[in-house]
Amino acid sequence: MRLTVIGTGYLGAVHAACMAEIGHDVLGVDVDPEKVADLAEGRPPFYEPGFEDVLTRALDSGRLRFTTDLREAAAHGEVHFICVGTPQRAGSRAADLRYVDAVVDGLAPNLSAPCLLVGKSTVPVGTTARLAARVARLAPPGARVELAWNPEFLREGFAVDDTLRPDRIVTGVTGKAADETLRRVYAPMLAAGVPYLVTDPNTAELVKSAANAFLATKISFINAMAEVCDATGADVATLADAIGHDTRIGRQFLNAGLGFGGGCLPKDIRAFTARAQELGVGPAVAFLGQVDEINQRQRSRTVALAGRLLGGDLTGRRVTVLGATFKPNSDDVRDSPALAVAVELHRQGARVRVHDPEGAAKAVLAHPELRCGADLLTACQGAELVLHLTEWSEYRELDPVKLARVVRTPLLIDGRNALPHDAWRAAGWTVKALGRPAPP
Ligand code: NAD
Repeated sequence: MRLTVIGTGYLGAVHAACMAEIGHDVLGVDVDPEKVADLAEGRPPFYEPGFEDVLTRALDSGRLRFTTDLREAAAHGEVHFICVGTPQRAGSRAADLRYVDAVVDGLAPNLSAPCLLVGKSTVPVGTTARLAARVARLAPPGARVELAWNPEFLREGFAVDDTLRPDRIVTGVTGKAADETLRRVYAPMLAAGVPYLVTDPNTAELVKSAANAFLATKISFINAMAEVCDATGADVATLADAIGHDTRIGRQFLNAGLGFGGGCLPKDIRAFTARAQELGVGPAVAFLGQVDEINQRQRSRTVALAGRLLGGDLTGRRVTVLGATFKPNSDDVRDSPALAVAVELHRQGARVRVHDPEGAAKAVLAHPELRCGADLLTACQGAELVLHLTEWSEYRELDPVKLARVVRTPLLIDGRNALPHDAWRAAGWTVKALGRPAPP
């Protein structure tokens, strides 16, 4: 099938390459000419495991091209996937839909052949219906353009696998034709037995908001328990294991620590609360405000712990932050908890050095005031405190004996509760973590 993928960021670029991988003829479109040039040359504009391979294969097959020209896209696609960003609107909790609207405004007047517009971006419930009215106004008279929503659940770090072998596919359609078209797009996934749920657009949009709200709530729940543990000397890791054995609860997403960040969960729960308020059901999801607050508080709790461990004054103290990205196996630093802590430590006068295997360049771009690099031992040289804030496997595999020799004081905050604390303590480190009591 001839597909276009409009917006080739973390979501769209992977979607475009994977759609070519399963046999479609794909045109990727972006307003950023540099990104388009990089992708067309097979250079991933971001770090994502496995993406370069799938991109190269797709380009070599001749089934994937890139352009900045939306008119070319209008002529190419039987199906147009909308994958542009929906960030938080400045000065508001709501989603900024200007990029989605711009795609529709640019595409609709050029649509002469029958086609299906499919949103994949995360949007407030009601967006498909609003865009359908916009398309009807802007498309040429008689044009047969349908709209559908097909929310995306991929996780950065696993994006290629999640796209080719998703947990489930959800489509929100208003008619049989759109359903049949999307079933043809995803035929290989259907054949592989991927659960395929067809519903109306409102439900499809809400599924994504609800999924992210639930995941965020689970993380904030365990972090709230960590705060209670800190007040009582109880151990949140044991608590998580113990409640996680209950299959109704499950152990996943119950790791207490610095909390969630990135370009999705934080802005999505805020957009959900804003939309619920518009719909007059604000109280139904008011708890998400608390989920957000608990999450933000783990950042200030970590900074406060660092201050306490260094005797109350951070001025001039040498601190090393391990991790800049919001999660491992990505170079994405959008709303990164690790980076937020690094910035605050710097603001309070500490001499901060940040290490990240893949995210250092983007971290410096976002925060030129920070010193960031990809050499771990250099970053830790002379440190009075090391904070482990992003769960890269490289950090789990660190030799604490070797690291103890380069730091000034072997003092560690494990902000992800993920390092082998016993081994670090045996190597002479003092280890602190949120929600974990100090050993006797
Ligand atoms: P991103 O910022 O990496 O990518 C967005 C891309 O859209 C950019 O390359 C930008 O240049 C391009 N763009 C903006 N306006 C455009 C226009 N008018 N025409 C063509 N291109 C345009 O964002 P992302 O992380 O890929 O997220 C995109 C959407 O997918 C968001 O709604 C996000 O919530 C959702 N989503 C993201 C993920 C993820 O893990 N990143 C997962 C699920 C859903």
